Amino acid sequence: MSYVTVNQLTKRFGDNTVFENIGFQIEQGEFVTLLGPSGCGKSTLLRSLAGLNPVDGGEIWVDGENITHQVPQQREIGMVFQSYALFPNMTVAENIAFGLKMKKVPAATIAKDVAKVIALVELQGKEKHYPHELSGGQRQRVALARALVVKPRILLLDEPLSALDAKIRKHLRQQIRDIQKELNLTTVFVTHDQEEAMIMSDRIFLMNQGEIVQQGSPEAIYTHPANEFVAGFMGHYN
Ligand code: ADP
Ligand code: MG
Repeated sequence: MSYVTVNQLTKRFGDNTVFENIGFQIEQGEFVTLLGPSGCGKSTLLRSLAGLNPVDGGEIWVDGENITHQVPQQREIGMVFQSYALFPNMTVAENIAFGLKMKKVPAATIAKDVAKVIALVELQGKEKHYPHELSGGQRQRVALARALVVKPRILLLDEPLSALDAKIRKHLRQQIRDIQKELNLTTVFVTHDQEEAMIMSDRIFLMNQGEIVQQGSPEAIYTHPANEFVAGFMGHYN
């Protein structure tokens, strides 16, 4: 069994079936990107993995454990969203420490773990700053640190770079990938940006209208598109 196994997962909002009987596997330490046009179901799928969306059918297994009906807090999953959901009235260090405090981790351990992830995302010196004093890229690094500090089994990233300008985006792509490799962290990254997916991923799951239409390495998807949709989306007709 793979580290992450999803079987026959189905999610509906009322009459709208976002995906039906979707399945895939992800290996430990793999960086997989859900790539596809707006509205195809990427965020819904990611939120289902996180437990933020109860599913209507199917199973999610992580490391041999069936997590399908676990609440988000039980899943040991870290998540970063497009817009930085930081607490505005807390400092960088307090934002990062928040999850550990909720789990009643001892203060000395919190201090050590927070310092470690602050170094990892290169925010040393910003510990006492507030979110409004930071750039967009720095705020996303705080959000990333906050996701990492709980030592998640899986990191889920929903378009974390989309709101940033091009130069910062490129730097953060590399930084996320470096950290992910260093921690050997199983990661599911969502984007609608083909270039980002091509550069960052071990494997791409290309989605369209709630289906994974092709999965494979960036090279395989680019050089052997399975159909017209994939070819078009990967830019072959531009
Ligand atoms: P993507 O992230 O690929 O842009 P989404 O997962 O956000 O796509 O949306 C997929 C479909 O699910 C869309 O039709 C969207 O309207 C619908 N959807 C997403 N979230 C909700 C929700 N909370 N309530 C109702 N419909 C939703
Ligand atoms: Mg989305």
